Amino acid sequence: FWVVFEGADGVGKTTQIDLLAGYLRGPAGGGRDVLTTREPGGTPLGVELRQAIMHGDHVAPRAEALLYAADRAHHIATLVRPALEAGAVVVQDRYLDSSVVYQGGARGLGDEVERISMWATEGLLPDLTIVLDMAPDAARVSRDLDRVERETIAKAAQMRAGFLARADLDPGRYAVVDAARSIDTVHGSVVAAVLERLPG
Ligand code: C5P
Ligand code: MG
Repeated sequence: FWVVFEGADGVGKTTQIDLLAGYLRGPAGGGRDVLTTREPGGTPLGVELRQAIMHGDHVAPRAEALLYAADRAHHIATLVRPALEAGAVVVQDRYLDSSVVYQGGARGLGDEVERISMWATEGLLPDLTIVLDMAPDAARVSRDLDRVERETIAKAAQMRAGFLARADLDPGRYAVVDAARSIDTVHGSVVAAVLERLPG
């Protein structure tokens, strides 16, 4: 079972991923085998690609999109697909929707970004994508920002609308969770969404 967290910067993805993984590994969650991972940067090659993406003060948008796709291709082939085949629950920070919203939307590259990503992953789609949703001004980003973060945060409202539109296209595979509430309340909604779909 594969669950992906999406949403704009600063909505609490990392916190909620850690809480969900802890829950699923614990007695209440059935003591499951859980892999937490992220894109970009979920593999050793991915760490290098992440560095390359964040490189300097400019990366040509198409090069940037292909670096994300390369990270994704390697991540899915070497880590995520094998873990799923071994029966683990994979809890992942960002996937296809981030590329559609950021490279396709914010960078203006359009629909081809999704096709590139589907090619990169041989069409593998998560069982559930949780969109953590929050009004941009409520999303507090306190840590140091890299170049990509500075550029995307400037378009926070567009990002938010992009993720919600993705969720609307396929409600069975998505859960939109109001992330402006307390950490524990959000966690409760996340667990409910996962348990609704998680097989035995
Ligand atoms: O969430 P994370 O720290 O991994 O993301 C780093 C930056 O890269 C964020 O600003 C995020 O919006 C951006 N990003 C992106 N396209 C992706 C994935 C992340 O622009 N496909
Ligand atoms: Mg993050």
